[in-house]
Amino acid sequence: MSEKKKQLAHLFDATQCISCGACILACSQTNFPEMHAKNIPGRQWIASNIRIVRSEKRSPVNLLVQCQQCENAPCVKTCPFGANYYDENGLVRTDPDKCVGCNYCIASCPYDARWSHPESGLPMKCIGEGCMKLIEKGEQPACVQACPAEARLFGDVLDPTSEISQKLSSSRTELLMPQKGTKPNFFVVVSK
Ligand code: SF4
Ligand code: SF4
Ligand code: SF4
Repeated sequence: MSEKKKQLAHLFDATQCISCGACILACSQTNFPEMHAKNIPGRQWIASNIRIVRSEKRSPVNLLVQCQQCENAPCVKTCPFGANYYDENGLVRTDPDKCVGCNYCIASCPYDARWSHPESGLPMKCIGEGCMKLIEKGEQPACVQACPAEARLFGDVLDPTSEISQKLSSSRTELLMPQKGTKPNFFVVVSK
């Protein structure tokens, strides 16, 4: 097996986040414009790859959680049709031509990061197609661009000069559910 050259990852700074929800909205607008337009006023649910998890571990804090781009991903292993795969940037992707919408992957994800699109019946998760296009253009994903509190970073953790690597080396971070053995690429900053 050739050595991995790139591993894109997300960082969420729980010490900076103000729980404004701008990332959730940006994710929805960028990746699910077809659903976004249909949101009914007063409805709680918004089509987004980010969800809010209340953590009582230290002081009460909201964690904004999405796909962890696991290096040992249960969703990749569980798909009977081989529809989930690791791309050249280390991201876990789904091939819509292979996926039959059985949703085994949704059930297998320990982070509850996948959901079934009500119109296509296919599993959705970060990174969405809208954000893939941004990344291919050399831009940051929508959630990172939208965050007013600098609570988010996205980049290559194998490049020591990247902003995310610098932040990782200067902060104390935690992984979510490390005991699951999924090797997540989603880092939560818990203190400077
Ligand atoms: S990277 Fe894009 S798809 Fe993933 S959570 Fe952020 S906005 Fe949503
Ligand atoms: S967080 Fe869930 S959907 Fe994302 S790679 Fe891991 S197992 Fe798959
Ligand atoms: S946009 Fe930034 S500050 Fe607002 S909820 Fe998301 S991560 Fe937190």
